[in-house]
Amino acid sequence: MPSYHVRIDEIPKAGREVHLAGHESAWRESLLEVAGGRGEPGGEASVRLHRRRHRVEVHGRYEVALHLECSRCLDTFPHRVVGTFRVNLLLESRGAPGAEAELTEADLDDSVFQGDVIDVLELLREQVLLELPAKPLCAEECKGICPDCGADLNTEACRCGLRPVDPRLAVLARLRPES
Ligand SMILES: [Zn+2]
Ligand SMILES: [Zn+2]
Repeated sequence: MPSYHVRIDEIPKAGREVHLAGHESAWRESLLEVAGGRGEPGGEASVRLHRRRHRVEVHGRYEVALHLECSRCLDTFPHRVVGTFRVNLLLESRGAPGAEAELTEADLDDSVFQGDVIDVLELLREQVLLELPAKPLCAEECKGICPDCGADLNTEACRCGLRPVDPRLAVLARLRPES
């Protein structure tokens, strides 16, 4: 079993620590999936798991570098994510109150867990995904693409202005059916 698959019954009293480094291929593949298959992702993470009676406490931190697609100009750009997280996995099969219990503010990081093996890669993948921007931008001031001529306005001038149209012809152009 790879080190990132942790059998709950085998977590020692002192806890278990899982390290992931850039050379771990499953970790790289997982990051590549998060990045939508772009670029050469890399990064490191360490995750500590502590077994409690009805739950496993997970503390983790990660630092990853991946490539995203800019939502304005569609260019691929490098993006770094550094984060820490804390999750409580409620072991439903072992009598955790689970979904029955009322969620208080402090329990927002709780999630119900079923099964005997915790996939640390999967936990990390979810956490990194949460930290990605909903609308990635290569730069705050990215000018995007001209919707008319398709020019990438970061690197070239809009070509629309290069076609001065005689106003009379423009009227005809508008009457012509779209090809
Ligand atoms: Zn952009
Ligand atoms: Zn244009």
